[in-house]
Amino acid sequence: VKPKTKSPTSKTTTSMTSTSTAVLPDDAALLGDQLARWFAGAARDLPWRTDRTPYRVWLSEVMLQQTRVAVVVDYFLRFVTRFPDVGALAAASEDDVLGLWSGLGYYSRGRNLHRAARVVATAHGGQFPSTREALRALPGVGDYTSAAIASLAFGEAVAVVDGNVHRVLMRLCADETPIDTPAGAAKTTMRASALVTSSSTPATINEGLMELGALVCTPRSPSCGSCPWRFSCRAYAHHTPEQYPVKARRTARKALRVACVVVVDGSGRVWLEKRAARGLFGGLWEPPGQIVDVVDDDMTVSARVTDTWHALLVARRIEANLAGVAPVVVTRTLTHRDLRFDVVVARVVGEVDPSGSDGVGRWFARDELHSVGTSTAVRAVFDAALGEVHSPRLV
Ligand code: SF4
Repeated sequence: VKPKTKSPTSKTTTSMTSTSTAVLPDDAALLGDQLARWFAGAARDLPWRTDRTPYRVWLSEVMLQQTRVAVVVDYFLRFVTRFPDVGALAAASEDDVLGLWSGLGYYSRGRNLHRAARVVATAHGGQFPSTREALRALPGVGDYTSAAIASLAFGEAVAVVDGNVHRVLMRLCADETPIDTPAGAAKTTMRASALVTSSSTPATINEGLMELGALVCTPRSPSCGSCPWRFSCRAYAHHTPEQYPVKARRTARKALRVACVVVVDGSGRVWLEKRAARGLFGGLWEPPGQIVDVVDDDMTVSARVTDTWHALLVARRIEANLAGVAPVVVTRTLTHRDLRFDVVVARVVGEVDPSGSDGVGRWFARDELHSVGTSTAVRAVFDAALGEVHSPRLV
């Protein structure tokens, strides 16, 4: 599908006028021109910026949610090599997709990606719908992603607002409205819409805004001296860029402690079980594990961890002697959780067929651990418990 380019007078999704300065410190068209010129010279050479099909835009935007560009580049290239178009992705198994997604985090994105590919392949004849409204009906495609595809792939003059855009525009206007409130979200959308609808190249404005936030108007120590908006920027004028954006509340992370048993048989194979499709790490493979209660003193919690290791083995009718086996501790910080895994390796001898896991487990050879769909946390558990099993391609 070829991207469409809309004229400056195209009907838009907002009522902002091209000369609106009410919501911005300077003329919207002037700011847009400055931004577009800066972007033309500063834009990074990223793989999804070439051969810009809706499929590649969608894939990159889904991957970029909550994930750094440097990490996404490798994953994106692997995905488009293995699944060059939406039909190839739709034809793959979910295990194949999650295996390739392993390490990228937020695994519901990978599952939704696969589901959406199947909807595009079956309900839309393999062509992405071209309007924001139709795109939003796809699994996992919300306000942000639908706006990004509609703008970047089809040229629709709709604002694409991410964290970078919030930060840049709140600083530009020295606005103290918290961005995690409906009022803050509405202000950023209104300002971004004013810029986008004032331009003949709305996609460039959206991309330029995000790029400015990523490269120049960074969270810490913004490079105001090289910013195309420094003469209009109110936060710069007041020497206060880092005071913006304001947030109303901080998200407290929940501490979770998991007792985990890495079961290895006499051939060196590892027993893994597949998580239910929904929820944290849904559909991924992991060693037997269970969350333990941490509201007591350390000794009590340690005893509870030991009891849980044994209970996990008993439930699967696995006989293994854990006495003298040194446990390892693996910690991971997710956006909303602090995870701690207390891991012990249980070596069983001979042919064992664990049971009690509802048929969702199986043995994996060591070299299969590279490609099976697991979370980064579980890969860290493998590394700590079994020695380095990371694929070199993973970060
Ligand atoms: S002048 Fe500084 S604070 Fe203002 S938009 Fe540019 S980089 Fe951000």
